[in-house]
Amino acid sequence: KEYRSDIEPTWCPGCGDFGVVTALTKAFSEERFDPTAITMTSGIGCSSRLPLWMNAFGIHTAHGRALPAAVGVRLARPETPTIVTAGDGDIFSIGMEHFPHTARKNFDITLIVMDNRMYALTKNQTSPTSRHGYKGSLNPYGNIEDPFNVIKFAIASGATFVAQSYSGNPKHLAETIQAAVEHKGFSFVNVLSPCPTFNKIDTFKYYKGRLIDINKELGHDPSDMKAALELASHVLDADYPELEDAEPFKGKRPIGIFYKVEKETFEERIAKLKEKFAPKEGEEPDWDEILAKYRP
Ligand code: SF4
Repeated sequence: KEYRSDIEPTWCPGCGDFGVVTALTKAFSEERFDPTAITMTSGIGCSSRLPLWMNAFGIHTAHGRALPAAVGVRLARPETPTIVTAGDGDIFSIGMEHFPHTARKNFDITLIVMDNRMYALTKNQTSPTSRHGYKGSLNPYGNIEDPFNVIKFAIASGATFVAQSYSGNPKHLAETIQAAVEHKGFSFVNVLSPCPTFNKIDTFKYYKGRLIDINKELGHDPSDMKAALELASHVLDADYPELEDAEPFKGKRPIGIFYKVEKETFEERIAKLKEKFAPKEGEEPDWDEILAKYRP
């Protein structure tokens, strides 16, 4: 209760995104966060409304701009736990240019993407993660593109924590989100999150019995980057009938932590620079003298 706001969600009944609210609430309470210290940022889309339902500071930004807003928070208030909630269209299309740079710089931000494989708020257009052949409102003959492999891209971009979970598995989702929040550095969780209103293919019924836990069932060690990239390259196999029986997932959708490594964060590097070069008390530079060199 402490971590939920008084505002009632306006999502459709049965929306997969409810599972993310529950998982986040559990993660915050187990971390014993002070609600007045948490900042959540989001862009535009159904899932981007999520900060409204939480008792935390929220910044509802323009479409695709949740990550740079979070970076601003980290630079100004590095003591603040910072969570970004977004949808697949918002982050991987409009805001795509921000993802690899925030990841490689290793800002201490948790990014949770609710991936329903289409744009829902604008009523069913294909997104970068839509299946090949998916029929949206603007392409009734089916998507002629192939979907984007977000897990492989996140590892290749330098994210130091990369995972996938499912909103219909509350235990796995809560554990994964908590591990992401606890991770020091850029953590990314892609949540397979059905939209029962528009997407009639990637449904709760579809995912039932079609998930495989890469850590528990395949014994994957997330510290092994080579193994993580190999597994990540098969994340979308189940989209294609000709690959349905292919190893290692045999037609199932993988969930679990693909990659995790400890690395100095951007904020820590900034703090070191400040420590080394910022003037000590009583040693302030003579700004008039410095600026005189640059004046015409
Ligand atoms: Fe959820 Fe889909 Fe409804 Fe949006 S349109 S609130 S994604 S069920």
